[in-house]
Amino acid sequence: MTTTQRLVAEGLFTWPPSAQPRLIGAECTACGLVSFPVETHCVRCASPEAEERLLADSGTLWTFTTQGFRPPSPPYDGPDTFEPYTVGYVELPGEVLVEGRLTEPDPDKLRIGQRMRLTLVPYTADADGTEVMTFAFAPDEEDV
Ligand SMILES: [Zn+2]
Repeated sequence: MTTTQRLVAEGLFTWPPSAQPRLIGAECTACGLVSFPVETHCVRCASPEAEERLLADSGTLWTFTTQGFRPPSPPYDGPDTFEPYTVGYVELPGEVLVEGRLTEPDPDKLRIGQRMRLTLVPYTADADGTEVMTFAFAPDEEDV
């Protein structure tokens, strides 16, 4: 049996899922600023002209924190069975800081500056069992 999956939101990352997912960002054609998620206008120069750009699939952990309680709903629409998780900013080299969920829930196993790799994780599930996928960053196994 195969579990059906769908994206949490269109246009955030490459789909269908692959072994090496990539985030979809935008590079401003006027000033070169790379942004994620894609904005309608460049946040630096306000130009509406941008080209889609796949971001690097790994970077370094810039900072992180623990989400230790269920966020207010709305806007949070995750599962009712809440487990604390970590969120962080990952700096993709020369590109942009990306905020995302981290796969490692134990903050003692994370350190600022460590290598992180993009991955996709189930965020919640629809009533019919379809997994809703979002992106997250996992500690890079090669950096130990
Ligand atoms: Zn710009």
